[in-house]
Amino acid sequence: MIRKIKGTMDIFPDEAALFRKIEGVMREEAEKYGYGEIRTPTFESTELFVRGVGDTTDVVQKEMYTFADREEDRSISLRPEGTASVVRAIIENGKCSDPMPLKFYYIISCFRHEKPQAGRSREFFQFGTEMFGSESPAADATAIALAASVLRRLGLTNVKLHLNSIGCKNCRPDYRRALVDYFSSKRECLCENCRARLDKNPLRLLDCKNPDDAKLAASAPRTIDYLCGDCKNSFDQLCRSLDAMGIPYVIDPKIVRGLDYYTGAVFEFIAEGIGAQSTVCGGGRYDGLVESLGGPALSGIGFGMGITRLILAMRELGIAEPQIRRPVLYIAALGEAAQIKAMAIVERLRREGKYAECDIVGRSLKAQMKYANKIGARYTLILGDSEIESGKAPLRNMEDSSQTEVEIDSFEI
Ligand code: ATP
Ligand code: MG
Repeated sequence: MIRKIKGTMDIFPDEAALFRKIEGVMREEAEKYGYGEIRTPTFESTELFVRGVGDTTDVVQKEMYTFADREEDRSISLRPEGTASVVRAIIENGKCSDPMPLKFYYIISCFRHEKPQAGRSREFFQFGTEMFGSESPAADATAIALAASVLRRLGLTNVKLHLNSIGCKNCRPDYRRALVDYFSSKRECLCENCRARLDKNPLRLLDCKNPDDAKLAASAPRTIDYLCGDCKNSFDQLCRSLDAMGIPYVIDPKIVRGLDYYTGAVFEFIAEGIGAQSTVCGGGRYDGLVESLGGPALSGIGFGMGITRLILAMRELGIAEPQIRRPVLYIAALGEAAQIKAMAIVERLRREGKYAECDIVGRSLKAQMKYANKIGARYTLILGDSEIESGKAPLRNMEDSSQTEVEIDSFEI
């Protein structure tokens, strides 16, 4: 018995239909906000993620699925996120000189070797968006509004927007110093990971999931107290735009995001009541990324929304109904001639765009009727030799058991 790899999932039709419904909302909303779909490869040069995501991040250090390419002497990784690939694609395809802003969205699976648990898997599904070429807080507000409108349309009233700014390359050094000072005096109390982070990437300390470290992080200096004039103005303007657009938020200095490329505004949408993995959407501004991957100085803002976590949040509210499809018609047929006629009728209805079924496994008439009931057929048509001969058959409404006689070659449903 071969089993699936730990941290992956099998999704059957009812649940896949729920995914499709959610993804449909994402596509519709993204297009309304002027984002176009982009598709990039599932795997890329490892170097892209090392440079794009950051070589001191957990994602790159511990979580990537990396392997040697067969033909060439190079290292390849399955994408752990979507942003780096989109940035590579726009640079490589010369899109950086197109009229700005550039707006892209994608619905992809990502791969991270993490400890599987509720809301955290090794292959996971993500709706992501990226916008390039606007430094204005209006761009941040647009990205956030898109995420909020997807969540609103899905009915997620249990999700709250948490907003912060982590500053730019001008204000970051001062903040970094304050943070290192604060944590250095508490070095002995930090987890092993965080001691290493203190030297390499102190901002990451604020993101530690270890409860003791999280307690220390709660009283750490706050990025918003160290913002330079420009960052402060942008952040204020973003807040005012959100107010004007009717998008509620809380300012939360704990939000710093786990990937290296963020600058300026960062945000998370956090769901109540779905356990520890409660961030359904995370994003922010990444103004240095395009340049650091070899492109021009082009600012960016984006987010990633985890689809499985959305479903958990919807379940919590009781709004994640399985999407069961019911055929409009089931034809129960007895005998070879009737069976062939049944095939012709369902084919006619399917060409008209309807979902119709007939027996294709050789059930008895009684078993066919039972099956029609089970799959929730709205109508049934019973065909035998005499119906084929007369060209007429009884059409039964399964909801109220009423019955009418119809012309089998031309009836409409
Ligand atoms: P986390 O809070 O789980 O550490 P992250 O900051 O690593 O998330 P991002 O890289 O920003 O996550 O990804 C965007 C979104 O994708 C997350 O907010 C979350 O909803 C989802 N996500 C991330 N990692 C996983 C995973 N391993 N399994 C399921 N969903 C995930
Ligand atoms: Mg993570």
